[in-house]
Amino acid sequence: MSYDWSALERDLRRLLPARGVVSKRQELLSYDCDGLTLERQCPPLAVLPETTEQVAAVLRCCHAHGIPFVARGSGTGLSGGALVDEEALLVVTSRMRKVLELDLANHRVTVQPGVINSWVTRAVAGDGFYYAPDPSSQVVCSIGGNVAENSGGVHCLKYGVTSNHVLGLEVVLPDGSVTELGNGLAESQELDLRGAFIGSEGTLGIATAITLRLLRAPECVNVLLADFETMESAGEAVRAVTAAGLLPAGMEIMDNVTINAVNDFFGYDEYPRDAAAVLLIELDGQEAEVQASAQRAELLCRGAGARGLRRAEDPTECAVLWKGRKSAFSAVGKITPTYYVQDGVVPRSSLPVVLAAIERLSQEHGLPVANVFHAGDGNLHPLILYSAAEPNAEQRVKDLGAAILKECLAVGGSISGEHGVGADKRCYLDWMFAPEDLQTMGLLRRAFDPDNRANPGKVLPTPRTCGESAKRSVTLQATVELF
Ligand SMILES: Cc1cc2nc3c(=O)[nH]c(=O)nc-3n(C[C@H](O)[C@H](O)[C@H](O)COP(=O)(O)OP(=O)(O)OC[C@H]3O[C@@H](n4cnc5c(N)ncnc54)[C@H](O)[C@@H]3O)c2cc1C
Repeated sequence: MSYDWSALERDLRRLLPARGVVSKRQELLSYDCDGLTLERQCPPLAVLPETTEQVAAVLRCCHAHGIPFVARGSGTGLSGGALVDEEALLVVTSRMRKVLELDLANHRVTVQPGVINSWVTRAVAGDGFYYAPDPSSQVVCSIGGNVAENSGGVHCLKYGVTSNHVLGLEVVLPDGSVTELGNGLAESQELDLRGAFIGSEGTLGIATAITLRLLRAPECVNVLLADFETMESAGEAVRAVTAAGLLPAGMEIMDNVTINAVNDFFGYDEYPRDAAAVLLIELDGQEAEVQASAQRAELLCRGAGARGLRRAEDPTECAVLWKGRKSAFSAVGKITPTYYVQDGVVPRSSLPVVLAAIERLSQEHGLPVANVFHAGDGNLHPLILYSAAEPNAEQRVKDLGAAILKECLAVGGSISGEHGVGADKRCYLDWMFAPEDLQTMGLLRRAFDPDNRANPGKVLPTPRTCGESAKRSVTLQATVELF
């Protein structure tokens, strides 16, 4: 479908200051992809609103012109959610960066969607609080993007993902009306539409204000580093720690490729270079409890075959141990022309078998894989290393990525742990869900967005985006065809 972009631009320029409308192709090119660089498409037009009123006015204008829109936060998403791959207006929230209300008495803060994740903790740390969900991209990704993706992170093992920390949302619906979802309290008697919105990947509207739960910073934090001669023994340590009833704040594993990439990246040797895997375990809480848990975890790691053990007790040393893990994606970027991040979840007990399958598939497909992952949650991130200059490289990468997800599903896992479905995985959704499930999701989406204008074509499979594979669900339920 082709839209009247000049008429839309003329009307948008009446609603927003000059700097709020971007129409020059050179400037629009900076929005041609998100963190999924395999797919690129330059949007026809972008706006950068600064207030809820401006977002509402923009969406009312889109509604009047019948033009779809795509929300974008910082563009770090790894599933192509903020990609404008069908004609649509891009609505960028990066100028919505205000902390709107700080309510420390009730342990909450309300922010605009473009506020960067780590700024929330920075704003409240002086008062002894923090915001728990901490994606590794936390210094750049936005709270709006975190809400849309229901993002996870290192601390989500103990504290839960984004949906456990959002108390209320102000949302602009696709017709430009403004609504509140959730009441800002821990419990609400209404149907949980707040929960439905979180993780909906920009398909139900645009979040313009988000009330977050704040936690008291723990009295004491220790980080353990255990290194192993095999990946299986690192996996066994994770199993043993959880089986013993310990609940670390985080448990993360890096394989040998990642260990060396990180050491080279920082020019240090914090992680033993010859280890097959290192396991990082963070324990937090009251000092006596942390000390006892750390000793227990050390014994369990030794029992699982840990070769070396190191414990960091002061904040600077803890930060040194985490630094490599938090920068692992960037470090791997230095050892390969490019890479694709896969994201799947498996039951923790299946980690060894799926990691072995990934190694086998990597050899079969002739593409190296680096593994760095949220081991405590069973959330895998195989990084498939490749050069786009190689023949048929992108298709081979996609094939290997898909084969890995099939292994995750075979053990009762899922095709995404935290990076969402977006454009990248929409054609795999019917591997997991029956047509009736997809139909229900389509109906919910339609209740928010009857004209299918919010991030169209994303998440749910359609014949337009996925060809024949989406036919079955559409035959059963005509409304899904819209999406
Ligand atoms: C190096 C690196 C490490 C990462 N580590 C993690 C990790 O540990 N855990 C994790 O979960 N993810 C991780 N990610 C993925 C990514 O950072 C998260 O998905 C993040 O939440 C995306 O935020 P963003 O602001 O960049 O969103 P964008 O990429 O701009 O958008 C993501 C989706 O959100 C929608 N959206 C954006 N803003 C709004 C809004 N206000 N209202 C409605 N919809 C909106 C968009 O339409 C899109 O569908 C990582 C990415 C990178 C590059």
